[in-house]
Amino acid sequence: MNAKNSVKNPDASLPSTPYYLLDEAAIVANMQIIARLCELSGAKALLALKCFATWGVFDVMQPYLHGTTSSSLNEVRLGYETFGNNADVNSKDKKETHAYSVAYSADEIPEVLSYADKIIFNSISQLNAFKDQAAAQGVPVGLRLNPKTSNSSFIIADPARPFSRLGEHDRDKIAAVLDDITGVMIHNNCENDSFEAFSESLADIEARFGDILEQLEWVSLGGGIHFIAPDYPLEKLAERLKGFSETYGVQVYLEPGEASIHGAGSLVTTVLDTMHNEKNLAVVDASIEAHMLDLLIYRESAPINAINEEAINILPVNTDKSADMSDNTIIYGRSCLAGDIFGEYELPSTLKVGDKIAFGNAAGYTMVKKNWFNGVNMPAIIIRRLDGSIDIQREFDYQDYKASLS
Ligand SMILES: *Cc1c(COP(=O)(O)O)cnc(C)c1O
Repeated sequence: MNAKNSVKNPDASLPSTPYYLLDEAAIVANMQIIARLCELSGAKALLALKCFATWGVFDVMQPYLHGTTSSSLNEVRLGYETFGNNADVNSKDKKETHAYSVAYSADEIPEVLSYADKIIFNSISQLNAFKDQAAAQGVPVGLRLNPKTSNSSFIIADPARPFSRLGEHDRDKIAAVLDDITGVMIHNNCENDSFEAFSESLADIEARFGDILEQLEWVSLGGGIHFIAPDYPLEKLAERLKGFSETYGVQVYLEPGEASIHGAGSLVTTVLDTMHNEKNLAVVDASIEAHMLDLLIYRESAPINAINEEAINILPVNTDKSADMSDNTIIYGRSCLAGDIFGEYELPSTLKVGDKIAFGNAAGYTMVKKNWFNGVNMPAIIIRRLDGSIDIQREFDYQDYKASLS
């Protein structure tokens, strides 16, 4: 499944920065945790493409997952082409391709249905508009429910925020369309690392919708469960999911995005300049707004996981707490956004022009969101394969920038 222009580079000499570096071994380690969770619980796991869609590594993910889920026509097509189209429809190895969108346009529906094994509508009005077409194609239909509670510490990412458009909440209205659906999708967690909080919110869903769930064949519980954390009680989660599945007689699906690739990628940059303004400043050849946009959206900072190719784990300092911070270094991106900041750090030594800084946690919600703001060079996508070899999967140049506009 490698791109045609993929280059085998056995002596591991890497191209110039910036680049995203994906580590297949780290992805597989996450996959094994997901597969274990599925084995213990009976749940099926679908990769949420909106988080991670770098299909050059799907070969190593496919054996562990049951398919993909999507947020748009483009994603469902990508999922079908790169993940779901791999086996005979009757084969047990057939991967599922789930379709969901906050809102489909009428002209997208025939193509979406041509790729989808299930289609999940966000609202009853969309369900009513398109259910007959889905039935004609033999594609099972689902509806997104909004339980009006969530485990998300960010209002911008909270599906249960006031006046939310994400799913239906009215029990009577949902009960009235039960004949048209075989399942539901509920996504109300965001990087939730507390099993207790997850379990309580599932209990809440059961109390609210239990009699509805009983009449369904499948329930997708979405993504955002941080079961990948080393101290997460995976067995308890599995038991909870298994019990849920047995109580209501449903196939449970999970839609892990972040959990699939957590810790499996970095953004490797080079220091272009250093300055001093009460603290040490460094400017690198990438940008959070263009290449790690979630740092900006969620006002977070990136960990550093290598300096000059030496592995090191430096967490950003909490600038609310530390007293004298004049020796700290703020690492800036090279876009003109004043607040284009990767983070503030206590570093073992002062940075110099030419130093290579690798930021961690750069696989999810990065490559899918990268953009050409400021015309800053687009990081290449590099894959460290399971055998240790390095593939330059994709490089971008001026022509790509130009072609993205007109
Ligand atoms: C975002 C999203 C996911 C994936 O969430 P992660 O936090 O990356 O696991 C899964 N399902 C739906 C419906 C989503 O919107």
